Amino acid sequence: MRLPTPADPYPFAGTQLPCLIGGEFIRAAKSFPNTSPVNGAELCAVSEADAALVDRAVQAARTALRGPWGRLSLPERCALLRKVADRIEQRFAQFVSAEIADTGKTLREASSLDIPRGAANFRAYADLALARSSECFEMGTPDGRGALNYSVHKPVGVVAVIAPWNLPFLLLTWKVAPALACGNTVVAKPSEETPSSAALLAEVMQEAGVPPGVFNLVHGFGPGSAGEALVSHPDVNAIAFTGESATGSAIMKSAADSVKALSFELGGKNAALVFADADLEAALAGTMRSVFSNCGQVCLCSERVYVERPIFERFVEALVERARRLKIGGPFEQADMGPLISRAHREKVLSYYRLARAEHGEILCGGGVPSFGDERDRGAFIEPTIVRGLAEDARCVREEIFGPVCHVAPFDSEEQAVHMANDTRYGLAAAIWTSNLQRAHRVARQMETGIAWVNDWFLRDLRTPFGGVKLSGIGREGGAHSLAFFSEPQNICVKL
Ligand code: NAD
Repeated sequence: MRLPTPADPYPFAGTQLPCLIGGEFIRAAKSFPNTSPVNGAELCAVSEADAALVDRAVQAARTALRGPWGRLSLPERCALLRKVADRIEQRFAQFVSAEIADTGKTLREASSLDIPRGAANFRAYADLALARSSECFEMGTPDGRGALNYSVHKPVGVVAVIAPWNLPFLLLTWKVAPALACGNTVVAKPSEETPSSAALLAEVMQEAGVPPGVFNLVHGFGPGSAGEALVSHPDVNAIAFTGESATGSAIMKSAADSVKALSFELGGKNAALVFADADLEAALAGTMRSVFSNCGQVCLCSERVYVERPIFERFVEALVERARRLKIGGPFEQADMGPLISRAHREKVLSYYRLARAEHGEILCGGGVPSFGDERDRGAFIEPTIVRGLAEDARCVREEIFGPVCHVAPFDSEEQAVHMANDTRYGLAAAIWTSNLQRAHRVARQMETGIAWVNDWFLRDLRTPFGGVKLSGIGREGGAHSLAFFSEPQNICVKL
């Protein structure tokens, strides 16, 4: 697949991104600007759907449930999803261009993770839905005959998909694909920060022949805008949301009146545990990835790094040395790290850098913004930062920052490491670095998280359960778990 070059134009330059409703591209009366985090330039205007447009999208989705889509067989539906994946790959360079324009992430990340995973999500859920079996129970009846119970998987109905900006295409398709594979119709709302790859997906859905109203796209913000109108709409049956824990809480309140099914993938304050018996080189390289990937804007990133005392100084010194060498720059600059998503988010992360100092932390590297002397100074770049010396109850150790920053602290025993890792209101992921096989299994199980990696980080098999405990989410997605959320099982009991 061809990679875009700087000569490839951003696909929507000078346009207003429309919504897709009932198979029609519709420009809203109101719009907002989509700006580049690399240099602050305006990329395009984006239609902002109001409550009336959101209502049209939901009604289109409801009507489509009863149309040709509802009559397709499972293999026919899955064949359509595969066409969507093919079409994403045919327009690969455009998808990558759209994603790097909105996010500023490196070409390497967008072309090796975000867009390929988007296409893979459609294929994986087509395969999984086709392979799904259903339960069957034979029973005896009082009259001495019997009955056969079997279950069928029916769609839930109209599903609202609300996605964040950090892995925009990957996370949107992670929910849209299984929702469609299970026969639902979808109204999707990407983040206001990253509307472009979703706009391309809307075009691809049309090109692949997905019937009108099956996939609808609305753009806009959360409160008082398209997001709130969608999650409080009485005709939406289920909400699949990824974003901040506080937003999850607000959505839960909006959804309560109509008792919608909810799947929430929320924030994290993840720990990495590095034991003295770890393969040091692997632990260092893995921790660099787990702290600084996507400029620290992955829900799975490690913001707390605990290192066993005998190797603490050596490990931290090497980590700091590598962090100082990270090259910061725009998507086409062979950089290791791009900018944060926006100036507003940079202000939030910088406020934590200031707070770390106020909380008596020692900034070992970074702590500010880089200066380029060119247009990138109008972007949202920030320095990778490592802090030590904070108390475990400091706000910087307890709150999700969502930037390229971690706090490093030593531990003296396995028990203490487990306690420190679990002493948080979040529970998404943990990374454990050790060469002791028994310890690896023992510690992994004790992590109060949805995911525990041993000797790696962000190694994903799409069939496995994905999600968090505590403030990090409700329910699991991935594999059979997604199919279960996006389906209503119905038991059919036949007297024999
Ligand atoms: P966010 O919560 O600000 O926004 C996410 C989406 O929700 C956006 O589309 C936004 O417009 C919408 N939204 C906001 N308020 C709403 C409301 N009241 N009603 C309906 N919709 C609303 O999150 P973000 O800043 O885009 O993303 C970063 C956050 O997402 C971090 O906390 C990160 O940890 C989390 N995240 C979690 C996972 C996971 O799988 N657990 C994955 C990625 C990101």
